[in-house]
Amino acid sequence: MQNHETELEAAERRIRNLPRCGAAKLASMEQSYLELLQAIGEDPQREGLLKTPSRAARAFEFLTNGYRQSLDDVVNGAIFESDTSEIILVKDIELYSMCEHHLLPFIGRAHVAYIPQGKVIGLSKVARLVDVFARRLQIQENLTMQIADALMKTLHPAGVGVVVEAKHLCMMMRGVEKQNSSMTTSCLLGSFKEDARTRSEFFSLLKE
Ligand SMILES: [Zn+2]
Repeated sequence: MQNHETELEAAERRIRNLPRCGAAKLASMEQSYLELLQAIGEDPQREGLLKTPSRAARAFEFLTNGYRQSLDDVVNGAIFESDTSEIILVKDIELYSMCEHHLLPFIGRAHVAYIPQGKVIGLSKVARLVDVFARRLQIQENLTMQIADALMKTLHPAGVGVVVEAKHLCMMMRGVEKQNSSMTTSCLLGSFKEDARTRSEFFSLLKE
């Protein structure tokens, strides 16, 4: 009997297989977190904090694993031939990234669209491609462009449109901006940039 992997098992397998940063770097991150705790006047020896440097280092390792992944690793084997020349839109891809100015999360959604020219990519791969760039220190504008560029480079489509909407904890938690304001960025390439009809079709698909 064939053993089918559940969604959760598949996710766990993917996480296990993510490239690690190595023992030396992990140890140095742990040391940094320990010093951070001391610097804010905490006692790293108290029970609740004993394992915190090690946990925090592992979390940070995970949140920055995009540095250790290449586009090729991600799309590997998931590009298919297709005659479609309509817009393909992957909407509401969950996005978790970290602002490079404050090392705090920004959280939101990415919408990724393209018009194929012979080649399409598996749906789940689009989400993983977003992760490769989101799991780095970022600013939202660059993240948006990098996703668009990556798709352009991988599929050579007629055009690409990427919209990212996100809330930035560095603004919300510090009370800098209105608590619920979110930022929207977009990057349009090829026909999405040059052809007004494609562009307006893309934006009306986003509103649906
Ligand atoms: Zn920030």
